[in-house]
Amino acid sequence: VKRSGKNGFRLYSGHLLDQDERRQVLERDLRHALERGELFLEFQPICTVPDGRPVCLEALVRWRHPEFGLVRPDVFIPIAEECGLITSLGEWVLEDALRAAGRWRAAGFGEVRLAVNVSPLQLMQPHFAEMVGRELGRSGVPAAALELEVTEGIDLRGRLQVSHSVDGVRALGVGLSLDDFGTGFASLSRLNDLPVGVVKIDRVFVMDLTGDVERTRRRYVRTLIAAMVAVAGTLGLDLVAEGVETPEQARELIALGCTRAQGFLYAPPLPEAELLTALTRMTQS
Ligand code: C2E
Ligand code: CA
Ligand code: CA
Ligand code: CA
Repeated sequence: VKRSGKNGFRLYSGHLLDQDERRQVLERDLRHALERGELFLEFQPICTVPDGRPVCLEALVRWRHPEFGLVRPDVFIPIAEECGLITSLGEWVLEDALRAAGRWRAAGFGEVRLAVNVSPLQLMQPHFAEMVGRELGRSGVPAAALELEVTEGIDLRGRLQVSHSVDGVRALGVGLSLDDFGTGFASLSRLNDLPVGVVKIDRVFVMDLTGDVERTRRRYVRTLIAAMVAVAGTLGLDLVAEGVETPEQARELIALGCTRAQGFLYAPPLPEAELLTALTRMTQS
C-alpha cells in the first residue's frame, strides 16, 4: 500500500483505497502498531508570552505506518476511539510521555510540566483515575506536573463515570485543561461542569485575528478572546492560545491580554531527542 497525496492511500497495485477500505486497513494495522513500536511521541512547548519561556510540553502521538508513512492523529485517533483501541493507546501515551517527562525533569527542567491529550472515551473507563495514579507512581513524576487535556468534542454532561474519573484525577493533584475551546458544546457552561485550571483557545480563532479576514469576523474573534481573558482572570484560569504562527498574531493576542501561547512561531512539535536543546535555547534567550 502506498500513500498518495494528502488523504489518498493507494495500494501498490495502483488501486486507490476508498474511505471504507482505508479505514479497514488502518484499523487492522492499528491493532498491531503499539506492539510493533510504530507509535511515538512528539512534544510541543506551551510558552509564556511575550517572553516565550516554555512552561509545559504537550505530548502529541504519531504513527509511522510501514507502508503509508506518517499517519496523522486526526486520522487514527477517531479510528482508535471507534474500535476500542483508545484505552490501550491512551495508556501507552501516558506511560511514554511520563517517562520522557522524568528525563527532562532529571536534566534540569523540573519546572516544565507535561500535558497529555485524553479522549473523552478514556474518561468513561471505570479505572481511569487509578490507571493515571499507577503510571504517575511508576514514573516518579509528581501529579502536580501533569496536565490532562480534555476536548469538548462529545457532550460529557451527565456521565457519571466521567465525573468520577475527573474527581479521581483531581484528587491525585493532576491538572485539567479544556482543549479546543470554542469549537464544541456549550463552551462557557462547560467551565462550570469541569474543574479545569487551563483553557486552550482553538486555533481557528487565532487564525482569524489577522490576515485576509472579514472585518465582522475579526471583530468577533477579538471580542471572544477579550471576553475569555476576562473570564479566565475572574475564575483564576490560565488561558493558552493555540496555533500561533505569526508575530502579528502574537502581537494581537498579547494586546488582548493573553499570557500563554503555543504554535509554530515558538516551536513545532519536537522529537524527544531535540527537546533538551530546544528547552535550553528557549529558557536562555
Ligand atoms: P490538539 O490537541 O488540538 O493539538 C494541536 C494540534 O495542532 C497538533 O496537531 C499540533 O501539531 C498542531 N499545531 C501546533 N501548533 C500549530 C500551529 O502553529 N499551526 C498549525 N496549523 N497547527 C499547529 P497533531 O499533532 O496533528 O494532533 C492533532 C490532534 O490529534 C490533536 O489536536 C489531538 O486532538 C489529537 N491527539 C494527538 N495526540 C493525541 C493523544 O496522544 N491522545 C489523544 N486522545 N488525542 C491526541
Ligand atoms: Ca491538545
Ligand atoms: Ca487543541
Ligand atoms: Ca484540535
